[in-house]
Amino acid sequence: QTIGQYFDATCARHATREALVVRQQSVRWSYADLHEQVERLACGLQRLGLKPGERIGIWSQNNVEWVLMQFASAKAGLVLVNINPAYRRAELEYALNKVGCRALVLSPSFKSSDYLEMVNDLAPELAHCTPGALRAARLPTLEMVIRMGDEASPGMLNFNRLLTEPTDAERAMLADTGAGLQFDDPINIQFTSGTTGSPKGATLSHHNILNNGFFVGEAMKLVPGDRLCIPVPLYHCFGMVLGNLACLTHGATMIFPSESFEALAVLQTVAEEKCTALHGVPTMFISVLDHPRFGEFDLSTLRTGIMAGSPCPIEVMKRVVDTMHMGEVTIAYGMTETSPVSFQSATDTPVERKVSTVGLIHPHLEVKIVDGEGRIVPRGETGELLTRGYSVMLGYWGDDAKTREAIDPAGWMHTGDLAVIDEAGYCNIVGRAKDMVIRGGENVYPREIEEFLYRHPKIQDVQVIGVPDDRFGEELCAWIRLRDGETASADEIRAFCQGQIAHYKIPRYIEFVDSFPMTITGKIQKFMMRQQMKEKLG
Ligand code: ATP
Ligand code: MG
Repeated sequence: QTIGQYFDATCARHATREALVVRQQSVRWSYADLHEQVERLACGLQRLGLKPGERIGIWSQNNVEWVLMQFASAKAGLVLVNINPAYRRAELEYALNKVGCRALVLSPSFKSSDYLEMVNDLAPELAHCTPGALRAARLPTLEMVIRMGDEASPGMLNFNRLLTEPTDAERAMLADTGAGLQFDDPINIQFTSGTTGSPKGATLSHHNILNNGFFVGEAMKLVPGDRLCIPVPLYHCFGMVLGNLACLTHGATMIFPSESFEALAVLQTVAEEKCTALHGVPTMFISVLDHPRFGEFDLSTLRTGIMAGSPCPIEVMKRVVDTMHMGEVTIAYGMTETSPVSFQSATDTPVERKVSTVGLIHPHLEVKIVDGEGRIVPRGETGELLTRGYSVMLGYWGDDAKTREAIDPAGWMHTGDLAVIDEAGYCNIVGRAKDMVIRGGENVYPREIEEFLYRHPKIQDVQVIGVPDDRFGEELCAWIRLRDGETASADEIRAFCQGQIAHYKIPRYIEFVDSFPMTITGKIQKFMMRQQMKEKLG
């Protein structure tokens, strides 16, 4: 099935059930309401002359318009291109031109940055063109800019105007378009987080993401009546697939607390909306747990959710289970290129296993762990993780060479992550192949040292990287963020390690910092840390 067909059927089945709550815009819609709005928008997009297979970008934080665009573009067969709200002029230009967007939907402003201004800078022609007739020198494929909100802007179309009541003929045309779509057509281009370098545009089909959303929801045991709090970004698969599509495929309610992550909004939303599930990357859970007003909110309705994106420190997991009532929380592992999830723990996986592994392989997917020569390693040994099955992307848009590097001729996706699978099939992500440190011939996994240092009472957060060294090839370097009001010396930290971990794992360099370079998804960019250390150490 295509997403559009599935969407129509689900909305009919759950018509009176609450589908969507967007707190910051006071939106509260049933599945029937959502269906009607999506139908209108899909007709509105067709009215603009946009045709199946054409790319339409969306550059915005989380809001109701984003949710409508996700389903309306799928119904109209348009390839939705998720553009990171943190992008600036040059990155926007790159992304729009890379995938040849014909239209761009944008939110006027996001916190301090003005999107209109950036688009006007890139395309000064906008001010003088009639809406929908843009021909900008730097954005040659872009013909129209659609602005969210009520106000008009020179040269731009207005989003709300696309939501007017369609004619019967327009509805019939939309139905025809839907009938002509195939389940394996591209429907979405998502950029990777850019944790290891510049983001890549993964092209995903209806089949890829709809099925993944379904199996993610299955692992969480979502049922109609579940209420999922979604503070993770929609421009990323975490929000769009693990959030929206998991809800859609299970008749659950999507609840958005704010435009972008805010710990207090999450606490208020869970308590007031009686949420049963909550998603987040570990850093989000940490800021919720550490919020000064944490104790004021009743979180007892929570049951499950997903923590994913980067490794979860054991201490954090224990607090999520004990103080946030999320005994059925699941850990998921995935990557944008695989729609995204491939491993997930079950709701009843024992906590010990949840913290030490990312769970079991998802249904209908295959996995193998290989050494540098591509041979399968024995169970319990570390190697590169490869996955294969329905969820593997169609490819990187417009980049066949990179696609061939990532997906081999037999269909295996090379994840670039190092992993171990135990006898029972539970997978442990050891780290990224690129982050592994080889010090004097010994393989050192930064994660192991980070877990150890987390136990130090003064340490709030710690990241370990390798830096070039003449003698050992690489040396270890720890960046440490101390708890508020604490001070510590490098010697004190090293003394803490003495006798506890092998001498070659004790970081030679220790830096005390206030923050780490991060992607907007909350992932720490170790390549930036390595770059900064290289400059510093000369
Ligand atoms: P880029 O590919 O642009 O460098 P990225 O790999 O971070 O960025 P994503 O596709 O958003 O972009 O993230 C996928 C990666 O996140 C995985 O390859 C893995 O390294 C990491 N990851 C995801 N889930 C987990 C998890 N549960 N535990 C540890 N690492 C995880
Ligand atoms: Mg990646």
